[in-house]
Amino acid sequence: MRTAGIIGGGIGGLATAVALANAGWSVTVFEQAPVLTEVGAGITLWPNALAALDDLGVGDEIRNRAAPGWVGGIRNREGRWLMRTNEERFRALHGNFVAMHRADLVDVLRAALPDSVTVRLGSTVTGIDEDGAIQCGDRTEDFDLVVGADGIDSLTRRTMFPDYPVPQSLGIRAWRWIVDDMGTVDVGGILGAGGEFGIVPLGNGRLYVFAAARLSTGTPDPSLDDFLNWPSPIPELIAAVAPEQILRHDIRDLPALPSFVRERVVLVGDAAHAMGPHLGQGACQALEDAVALGAHAHDVATYDYLRTKRTHRLQQRSRRSARIILTRGASATFVRDLVLRVLPAELFLRGLGSNFSTRHM
Ligand SMILES: Cc1cc2nc3c(=O)[nH]c(=O)nc-3n(C[C@H](O)[C@H](O)[C@H](O)COP(=O)(O)OP(=O)(O)OC[C@H]3O[C@@H](n4cnc5c(N)ncnc54)[C@H](O)[C@@H]3O)c2cc1C
Repeated sequence: MRTAGIIGGGIGGLATAVALANAGWSVTVFEQAPVLTEVGAGITLWPNALAALDDLGVGDEIRNRAAPGWVGGIRNREGRWLMRTNEERFRALHGNFVAMHRADLVDVLRAALPDSVTVRLGSTVTGIDEDGAIQCGDRTEDFDLVVGADGIDSLTRRTMFPDYPVPQSLGIRAWRWIVDDMGTVDVGGILGAGGEFGIVPLGNGRLYVFAAARLSTGTPDPSLDDFLNWPSPIPELIAAVAPEQILRHDIRDLPALPSFVRERVVLVGDAAHAMGPHLGQGACQALEDAVALGAHAHDVATYDYLRTKRTHRLQQRSRRSARIILTRGASATFVRDLVLRVLPAELFLRGLGSNFSTRHM
């Protein structure tokens, strides 16, 4: 039996463990945290992610535990609709999508690990070499394949590809949290100048809420309080949880890396292609990576070809979306809102299509 050592037990590492085990590999996952779980509120799993989860054999379990996806539309800072979209139309064009708590996604992946997968919790990897050795504590183990699933600050990437560019700031601050019961609210996005707010239902009255704002030199850092005079239900959603339950991140991404493979070592997920959250595709791409690696672990050059091409495009598109969504200045904001008002919703939805392609797994 061929052996794989996976560094990192996040969404990318666990999904890859399932994929490699399904392909007949004996897998060891090294995770530095003492438990397998995910902070980070909610997650949207688009049709490409559901296809990947089906391939991993957990699609039905995910659909059982997740809420059906909703696309309410986009409102402006005054609360007026710029575009109303419809999830039935979305589904007719692109297929199903869902939203769920991240901890539930990790739970489903963890439960799908067969006996051929060993998970070592509290195990921080300190060294990797291209011949397949992983060092953890005072122990070094050899594997046929090493998978760096260790996130945006990946030790695997820094060790194997020391010349690669480092993560860069996107100049965006993001907040995320869960609200347990707010009754009925209009879901979707609300856009202002240099700021956005999003509301995603997770089922049973639960909402996944996020906000983002531009950081700029020479002006005070944005704060969630800046959203308190935005239209209802935004102030209520901010007041609904204690401040310490709100996650705050300054967003970074990775420049496109020329290759995700060196000898016996491959990168998956954010270690390979961290991208901003504006397409909601970071974890979806980690799931695609897992399926692609399960299919091409004996031919990592094919994995590299499929995954670099696909993720470079999405990284670029994600950066472009962030620039448009978080446009600043009165005239630029006016133009953005005008385009959204006149753009037929059907055309907008169709334009999303290639994000959900499943040809690169
Ligand atoms: C605000 C925001 C919103 C987002 N929304 C979405 C969304 O709606 N949909 C979507 O698809 N994506 C979304 N994403 C992106 C998504 O969160 C990431 O792409 C995804 O979680 C990456 O998973 P990963 O497993 O590659 O990395 P990580 O989740 O970073 O996991 C890496 C794991 O490796 C472990 N590790 C690191 N170093 C070591 C070491 N040396 N030894 C052992 N273990 C180690 C870490 O403890 C961690 O568990 C969002 C991101 C942000 C910031």
